[in-house]
Amino acid sequence: MKFDVVTIFPRMIEAGLAEGVVGRGVEKGIVDVRAHDLRTFTTDRHRTVDDVPYGGGPGMVMKVEPFVRALETIRAERGTPDAVVLLSPQGRLFDQGEAQRLSGLGHVVLLCGRYEGIDERVRDLVATEELSIGDFVVSGGETPALLVIDAVSRMVPGVVGDRESVEQDSFAQGILDYPHYTRPAEFEGRRVPDVLLSGHHAEVRKWRTAEALRRTQERRPDLIEDRRRTEAKETKQ
Ligand code: SAM
Repeated sequence: MKFDVVTIFPRMIEAGLAEGVVGRGVEKGIVDVRAHDLRTFTTDRHRTVDDVPYGGGPGMVMKVEPFVRALETIRAERGTPDAVVLLSPQGRLFDQGEAQRLSGLGHVVLLCGRYEGIDERVRDLVATEELSIGDFVVSGGETPALLVIDAVSRMVPGVVGDRESVEQDSFAQGILDYPHYTRPAEFEGRRVPDVLLSGHHAEVRKWRTAEALRRTQERRPDLIEDRRRTEAKETKQ
């Protein structure tokens, strides 16, 4: 799986991928991430990536030309991407389903904005889609890009050692994960549920499924509703 990230802060991407499970995936070459400094695609002496907004108003807007040139270079050096994602709070919400979809693609480019955002023509001329990490605004697209790379890479075979762990994650089956415990069996008066100490695998499985459903109903009833709707649709077809 190949990612190219276009940013004015390539070191943020490199640092964010230096450790952990995804970092090891990068090290092993299962995930190939390249961060491109947007300033290398400028043509003026000052390496300008932003300018004042037409019509006035606060802040600066990122220029269209460096993004267009960055994509030309990525195409020439790394091949034509399957998706060019503009990270923006105005995009479609990125969730586990979106992560699953992107993990099925071979090559994804992520465009990171800063300041007031990016010239609207980048949406029209460069991006093939627009994704948001949630209904809030962060200062730049680098954290969203790292988040997308992490969630997508977890689904690429070989990145997470134990495949079962990804399949049991929250949202993978449309519900939340079950509660986890490790030693000691008792801590400050709180005991690990007896069933987990019983060694009875079928009972453990039953308990985990029941707990996952119970906490989903309690915390995210919308997910249970979605699951019911999907199941009803599937039985109709
Ligand atoms: N003025 C813009 C707006 O309200 O739509 C927000 C600009 S934000 C300060 C700068 C950059 O951070 C954006 O261009 C985008 O790349 C990134 N960003 C901020 N919030 C985001 C979110 N929720 N999802 C994805 N990217 C986000």
